[in-house]
Amino acid sequence: MGHTDDKTPDVSTGSPCSITRPDLPQRAQGEENAYSNALAQFDKAVSHLNLKKGIVETLRCPKRELSVSFPVLMDTQEIKVFKGYRVHHSVVKGPTKGGIRYSKAVTLDEVRALAMWMTWKCALMNLPYGGAKGGVVVDPKELSFRELERLTRRYATEISVLMGPESDIPAPDMGTNSQVMAWIMDTYSMHKGFSIPAVVTGKPVEIGGSLGRTEATGRGTTVTVLEAMKRLGMDPSNATVAVQGFGNVGSVVAKTLHEIGMKIVAVTCSRGGVHNGKGLDPHDVLRHLEGGGCVYNFQGAEAITNEDLLQLDCDVLVAAALENQITSKNADKVRAKILAEGANGPTTPEADEILKTTGIFVIPDILCNAGGVTVSYLEWVQDLQSFFWPVDEINRKLQTLMARAFESVMECGAHYKVSNREAAQILAIQRVADAMVIRGIYP
Ligand code: NAD
Repeated sequence: MGHTDDKTPDVSTGSPCSITRPDLPQRAQGEENAYSNALAQFDKAVSHLNLKKGIVETLRCPKRELSVSFPVLMDTQEIKVFKGYRVHHSVVKGPTKGGIRYSKAVTLDEVRALAMWMTWKCALMNLPYGGAKGGVVVDPKELSFRELERLTRRYATEISVLMGPESDIPAPDMGTNSQVMAWIMDTYSMHKGFSIPAVVTGKPVEIGGSLGRTEATGRGTTVTVLEAMKRLGMDPSNATVAVQGFGNVGSVVAKTLHEIGMKIVAVTCSRGGVHNGKGLDPHDVLRHLEGGGCVYNFQGAEAITNEDLLQLDCDVLVAAALENQITSKNADKVRAKILAEGANGPTTPEADEILKTTGIFVIPDILCNAGGVTVSYLEWVQDLQSFFWPVDEINRKLQTLMARAFESVMECGAHYKVSNREAAQILAIQRVADAMVIRGIYP
């Protein structure tokens, strides 16, 4: 475990970071608020650590927050104004890293929570980054391709005061993809006058993206699921899996677990999904989606709701959709042996307490979905050195780093006698606190 230098002066100002600032737009409070959940997890983890009050208060607050309103010319020649954010939670360990989300549900609190989780995720994986996140309040499905491009280029310009290959490196998240990253990279490069691929990750390979990046989050989740099964003495052959959220992360987890012989019994998207006790072939479901179908009308299986899926009797439940899915209302009905948090923040702190009593093995989000940022880091390193590795090498490095992080979380949990989530947070927070103490307080 790390240490905190006793000689460091306490920098406390006596005003802990609050989530009730009246000047900022707020989402529902309590269990539905991702930021209050992130803070509750943080408070629980730091209660096990011997950190100075001022260090705790610094790590509790986002370092900087940018809110932007910007006009976009629509295809109808109408001008629409969009709201966007970029939050840097911590810059202690290096430049900030974190995705950009396009969704109607984006709020500043959600972006703050996701930025904080990125700090812990990067520290847990020993990546030389602090945490960031960005978001635009928009449903990308309501925009034409060109409108999406104009919105992205304008948002990239608005946040370019923060962004840079040595300062803040975005990546895709819900509602964005490699094309959006290509536009951001191009916009930033146009402003500078030369190409700067390392300013974003998750780009197409043609312009400096890494092989294996698209599948990295799902692959990393699969590594952690197999490590958890090994630890619990479970046999993967014919073990049953339910996947909530059949998007980038969920579909890759389903495919990779299916390939090693596990049985995918249910998958859902935002509008519901399907269940088949004999097993579904995720490749067939993907072909159905490519043909214009939806997950819930896939043939040869019975329709189920998202709530049904969470309560299925299965070995592994993969939560790969979004925040706040497992709450105090349904946590006692989860019957899986392993909960793999492919999404960020799918379990509320209230639900966590219930899951502890039911004995489910939780693979916490900052570990479970860290494969994405890990290969983003590998992409950034390849861009900076202009030398690219084959996909086998990327996947091997990913496997090693994920398995090592899983083991460190298990060791930390045994040392502190805490849940997997608390262990992951304790390890990450201690590493960032140690870095802060070593750097010292400027000036
Ligand atoms: P995505 O947009 O590709 O897929 C999201 C899926 O969830 C879609 O199938 C959508 O229909 C479904 N969904 C949305 N709302 C739902 C609901 N209420 N119930 C059930 N399903 C619902 O997004 P993604 O990139 O796969 O990201 C999923 C989660 O993983 C997010 O929490 C994201 O922050 C996290 N994550 C993603 C990455 C990455 O590399 N893409 C990395 C780390 C974490």
